[in-house]
Parts: sequence; C-alpha cells; structure tokens
Amino acid sequence: MISLKRNSKGQLVPAPGIRSRSSSVYTPNQTDPFKISRSKFNDFLTCKRCFYLDRVKGLASPSTPGWTLNETTDLLLKKEFDLCREKQTPHRIFERYNLNHVVPFQHDDIDKWRDSLHHGLKIQFRDSNIILHGGVDDIWLDRNADKLIVVDYKSQANSKPVNTEDYLSHMYHQGYKVQMDFYSYLLTKMGFEVSPISYFYVCNADRNALAFDSKMVFEETLVPYAWDSSWIEDKVLEMIDLLNSKKLPEDNPSCENCAYAQQRNIVEGL
Ligand code: SF4
Repeated sequence: MISLKRNSKGQLVPAPGIRSRSSSVYTPNQTDPFKISRSKFNDFLTCKRCFYLDRVKGLASPSTPGWTLNETTDLLLKKEFDLCREKQTPHRIFERYNLNHVVPFQHDDIDKWRDSLHHGLKIQFRDSNIILHGGVDDIWLDRNADKLIVVDYKSQANSKPVNTEDYLSHMYHQGYKVQMDFYSYLLTKMGFEVSPISYFYVCNADRNALAFDSKMVFEETLVPYAWDSSWIEDKVLEMIDLLNSKKLPEDNPSCENCAYAQQRNIVEGL
C-alpha cells in the first residue's frame, strides 16, 4: 500500500520514517515507566522484529487509513449502551440471550477506560517499569454474579450468519481473542471481579440485500467467549526481555512487507 505523510492541514510533508517523540522509544534497561498498549503487545506476538524496530529503534511504520464504517457502528452502539447505562436498564439485545440480569457498568472512569488513545484500562506490570494499557469497547455488569463482563464490538460483512464456533475458530479472529484475554487480564489486575465469559457484539452487514437504498442492514449476534489470561504474564516477561536486549530478533517469514523490502533491495541493487 502506498501511504503518503500529510500534516494536520492535509498537506504532503516529507515522511521521516522515524519517531520524533522520545517517550515512544524504549532504551534497553531504562528505569523510567514505559507504556505498552494492547496493539503493541499484539505486534510483539505477531513479529518480534517489527516490535523491536518500532519500540526500541524508533522506526515509524506506515500509517493506515481509519476504518470509518466500523468506527461508526462502534460509535452508535456506544450511544445506545450509554442510554441504558444512565438508566441502568438491560440493552434490547439482552432479552434474546437471557441476559436480563445484565446492565452496562456505571463507573466514573468508564470514558477513560474506553479511550484507547489517551487512557484505557491500565496497570503497572508486577514490579517492572512497564505500564500495560488498552481501551475497551464496553464493560457490562452481571448483577446476579456481581462480576464485570468485557465486551468488544465487531463489524463485518459476511454472507453467512454468525455462529459462535465458526466465529471463534476463524483464522482472522485469533487476534480478537488475544484482545479479550488482554482486557480481561487488565481488569482483573485492576482489582475487579471479571466474569469468565466475555462477549463479542458482532454486527454483520447483509450482503444479500436487494439494493443499497441509502442504508445497510446489520444482523447482531452476541458471541460468548471464555477468556483465558493464563498465558499473558509469560509473554509480557518475554517482551520485557526483548525490550532490554540489544539483539535484533528474527523476522516473520510470512510477512509480505519484509518480503517486499528484501526484493526491493535486490531489484535496486542494494
Ligand atoms: S517481518 Fe514484517 S512485521 Fe516483521 S519486521 Fe519484517 S516488516 Fe515488520
């Protein structure tokens, strides 16, 4: 993908390829606090080399355009859930899933927890200088069990109806489960009782509609997922070891970007 650097006025500017904010770059064995977001942790799991080049060497990977249609379903769902949160009433979808004992969780920090850019759920990892954080889509309260439920909104357009087994086993959804494991882990470490079942709120656009007619119709499905955070701490420790190392790790041989860069070097005779 060709990605051009623009300033806040939309004008083209030279792309530096390197991060300018020193707070985004980790110096091996530093003692100052350093924040690692859920998405950077996911980068670590996907390709240690790219994670290292980004967080330790300060390389800025090309930006990607926003997903405005997906963001819109998130935004509108948030409005709906906030109305129910205010009145402490179950959301309209809950009846279909026998979840009438569930309400959106009311907490002074709920907006901060949903703000992935500036706040999110946040913990200091053990006695390290690493701060783990991640912005959650929503949190509900199971009034019977007095436990919190982690929720992630997902939008897609698939001709087949959503079913739990296929959704959770789909190769492209494995990262979604990591996301849920990570948020549930953070919330637990923040001292909350978290329900063993989290939910993906899946909005599936109807691709079989006869026409567009200025609207897209979505089918909504709650996909329950039994989160598991037992693996997270070992991986975070591995990640911290990597941050403190001076050795560039291996790349991911399936990565098309690296393959492109290597072939380009060959073609350009570098
Ligand atoms: S393999 Fe891909 S993700 Fe890893 S360093 Fe290369 S470009 Fe980055």
